Amino acid sequence: MAHTETTTVAVSGGGPAGIMLGLLLARAGVDVTVLEKHGDFLRDFRGDTVHPSTLQLMAQLGLMDELERIPHRKLTTVTIGNPEQTIVAADLAELPGAYRHIAMIPQWDFLDLLVRRARRYPGFHLRMNARATSLIEEGGGVRGVRYTTADADGGTEEHELRAVLTVSADGRHSELRRLSGLLPRELGAPMDVLWLRVPRAADGATSGLNGRLGAGAMAVAIDRGDYWQCAYLIPKAGAGASADIRDRPVTELQERLRELLPFLGDAVREVDDWSKVAFLKVGVDRLTRWYRPGYLCIGDAAHTMSPVGGIGINLAVQDAVAAANLLAGPLLRAQDDPDRFARTLNPALLARVQRRRLPATVGTQLFQQLVQRQILARALSAEEHPSLPLPLRLTAGTRAWSRVVGRVLSRGIRPETITTPEAPAAAAPGGTAPAPA
Ligand SMILES: Cc1cc2nc3c(=O)[nH]c(=O)nc-3n(C[C@H](O)[C@H](O)[C@H](O)COP(=O)(O)OP(=O)(O)OC[C@H]3O[C@@H](n4cnc5c(N)ncnc54)[C@H](O)[C@@H]3O)c2cc1C
Repeated sequence: MAHTETTTVAVSGGGPAGIMLGLLLARAGVDVTVLEKHGDFLRDFRGDTVHPSTLQLMAQLGLMDELERIPHRKLTTVTIGNPEQTIVAADLAELPGAYRHIAMIPQWDFLDLLVRRARRYPGFHLRMNARATSLIEEGGGVRGVRYTTADADGGTEEHELRAVLTVSADGRHSELRRLSGLLPRELGAPMDVLWLRVPRAADGATSGLNGRLGAGAMAVAIDRGDYWQCAYLIPKAGAGASADIRDRPVTELQERLRELLPFLGDAVREVDDWSKVAFLKVGVDRLTRWYRPGYLCIGDAAHTMSPVGGIGINLAVQDAVAAANLLAGPLLRAQDDPDRFARTLNPALLARVQRRRLPATVGTQLFQQLVQRQILARALSAEEHPSLPLPLRLTAGTRAWSRVVGRVLSRGIRPETITTPEAPAAAAPGGTAPAPA
C-alpha cells in the first residue's frame, strides 16, 4: 500500500534546477519536497561550468565565501581556432560585472553547497533514492506525484506525494514529462561528444578553455588544474561516429587529440582504454508548452541544451530562479488554504514562467545552432581543414566578436535576479506530513 504524504511543491529531480528551486522556495517559506532517484550527486562529466550569471546568484544568496572554499579553477580565457586563424579569443576578465570568470566546480560540490543552505529552512525536504514514477491526476489537473524508494528487504516502497504544484526538473530523459503528454520539438545536433581526462602539468604554459577545429574533428581542452577536461566531438552518424570510433584502437584517438591540441603532449597516452572515455549523446530540444494545470517543467526537462558554451547548468538555475520569483507568493497563499489539494494553481502563472524564460532559451539555442551548423558541422564533415563561412572569416579573432562571444558565455541572455524574500524560519510548516484522513 502506498504511503501518502503532502507538501506544497513536489519537485522531481535533484539537479541544478530542482535543488535551486527547492532552496529558493523553502527560503521563501514554501514547503517543498525534492525527489532524487540517485543516492548521491556523484556523476562525472555532468557539467561543472558555473558562469558569472550563476555566481551573481550565489552572491545574492550569501554563498560566495563557501563557494570560494571549494577547490576549483577559474577560467578567464576562451580560445577557439583552426590551424589558419583564431576564431574567438575572449578574455572574460575584460568584461564588466563583479564576476569575470567561469568557475569550474564539480557539480556534486555545487549541489551539496545548495543543499546545505537549503537545509537551514524547515520547509526543505530532500528524498534521495526516490524515483518519481507517475503523476497523480485528478479533476483535470496534476495533484502530485507517485514515487518509489527501496525498503529494508531490497523491495520497493510506494509513496504518493500530494502537492499544489508538481515540477519536473528531472532532466532531458524526464519520465514524468513523457507521461504528462508534453512533447519536445527536436532541434537536432550534428555531433556527439567523447569526454576524457588528460593529466596536466600544474605549471603548464597553456590554460583556460582551448578549442581547435581540424579536418573531420574538433577537440576542446578545459584547464582543471592538474588535468585537462577534454571533449572530442564526433559526427552523429557515419564514419567516425560513436559505434565506428570505438571499434578502432584508442591510440587513434590519442593521436587525433595530440594533433589538434599539441600542448597535451605525451600525457594523451594516459587515455589508454576506451573505458576511460565517456560518451555523451548530444540532443537539443524544447517543449512548445512547459506546463499543464498543476504541473511545470524547467531546466533540461523543458529544453535540452547543446553542450556548446557549457550553458545548460546556468540556464537550469535561471529557470529555477524565475519560477521561484513568479510562483513563491501564490504558493504561499495556496499553502494557507485548507482546500489546497482540491484546487489548482492558476495555470496562467505557469504560463508566465514559460514566457519569462522562453527568450533566453530560444536565443541561446539559436546561438548554439548557428555554431553547430556553421562551424561544427563543417569541421566534422571536412576532409581538408574546414573553411569558415564568409561573415565569420571577416569577424573571426576580432576583439569585438570575441567580446560578443564572451558576453553570451558569461552573462547569458536575460540573467535572473532573486526577488523572493527570505521568510522568517518559522514561516514554513514543519515538514512533509501524513495526509489528513
Ligand atoms: C555529459 C554531460 C556533460 C555536460 N556538460 C555541461 C557543461 O560543461 N556545462 C553545462 O552548463 N552543462 C553541461 N551539461 C548539461 C547540464 O548537465 C544540464 O543542462 C543541466 O544539468 C540541467 O540541469 P537540470 O537540473 O535541468 O537536469 P539534470 O542535471 O539532468 O538533473 C536531473 C536530475 O533528475 C534526476 N531524475 C531523473 N529522473 C528522475 C525521476 N524519475 N525521479 C527522481 N529523480 C529523477 C536525475 O538523477 C538528475 O539528478 C552536460 C550534460 C551532460 C550529460
